[in-house]
Amino acid sequence: MKKIHLFTIVLVLISFSACSQSKEKEETRQVTTKAKPMSYNYLSKEEQKVILNKGTEYPYTGQYYAFDVEGTYLCKQCNTPLYKSTDKFDAHCGWPSFDDEIPGAVKRITDADGQRTEILCANCNAHLGHVFLGEGFTGKNTRHCVNSISLNFIPIKMNQQQNLQRAIYAGGCFWGTEYYLQKAKGVVSTTVGYIGGNKQNPSYEEVCSHNTGHAEAVEVYFNPEETNFEELTKLFFEIHDPTQVNRQGPDIGEQYRSEIYYLNEEQKEISQKLIAQLEAKGYKVATKLTAASAFFSGETYHQDYYKKKGGTPYCHSKVSRF
Ligand SMILES: [Zn+2]
Repeated sequence: MKKIHLFTIVLVLISFSACSQSKEKEETRQVTTKAKPMSYNYLSKEEQKVILNKGTEYPYTGQYYAFDVEGTYLCKQCNTPLYKSTDKFDAHCGWPSFDDEIPGAVKRITDADGQRTEILCANCNAHLGHVFLGEGFTGKNTRHCVNSISLNFIPIKMNQQQNLQRAIYAGGCFWGTEYYLQKAKGVVSTTVGYIGGNKQNPSYEEVCSHNTGHAEAVEVYFNPEETNFEELTKLFFEIHDPTQVNRQGPDIGEQYRSEIYYLNEEQKEISQKLIAQLEAKGYKVATKLTAASAFFSGETYHQDYYKKKGGTPYCHSKVSRF
């Protein structure tokens, strides 16, 4: 339904050049840090350049520089809440700037250059950027200059550190997948968006043009004290039809494929186990398992679609399969 009018702009979109970044998947993780390694997220090569090797993204290019939504910024590697949107300001420097951090979340050390002060996630030592004092931008006289690529964002206010875990599912039209996942116990935040393609920050129209290779997906943050990846993944298999190939009901096209973008080895193994259980019951499961690459948030009008519009999904329903 919603895709039909979008095919008209295919020709315009063909001229967009593909970026090579988001297809790159790297399954190595930093394991020399103190948080539970199993809970760390895989990092793409681009993410590793900054987060593990202390690189710097080009100014004015990051996802969160010109970004002004109320919520919380999390560590890309370990999901620890680091910064609040209320502490964000525009220093016109090309990188997200904050004049304060969530208490205890950010560690400061002298940079290798002996001059600047490097900032790291206090939980997992992910490189964030640098902190500068005495510039007079705000009353706190402090500027945390942070690489967007070191962060993820959730539109939820959090004033303290909290242990969250992340999962990414593609199961047809993201409106319907989000509708069910956001109702699940222990789910703190859901965001619909795009993953698995060959262009950064694609638009909905670009994804529907079938040229970028992205899947419509839902990023979920959950509280591991109230639920776990296995429970949510079982739900995922019951709210869409995992036997359909590149479609979900009336929605046809590879952006509607069934795919789990696992973030660590534990998620991969649990997904394999559940698929084996379904296959033992006779289901011919089409769901792909892929190491997560960069997830890009979808447009605001796609977020919480059924919550805002009312009604129930035309493309998804809950079916007991386990
Ligand atoms: Zn971290």
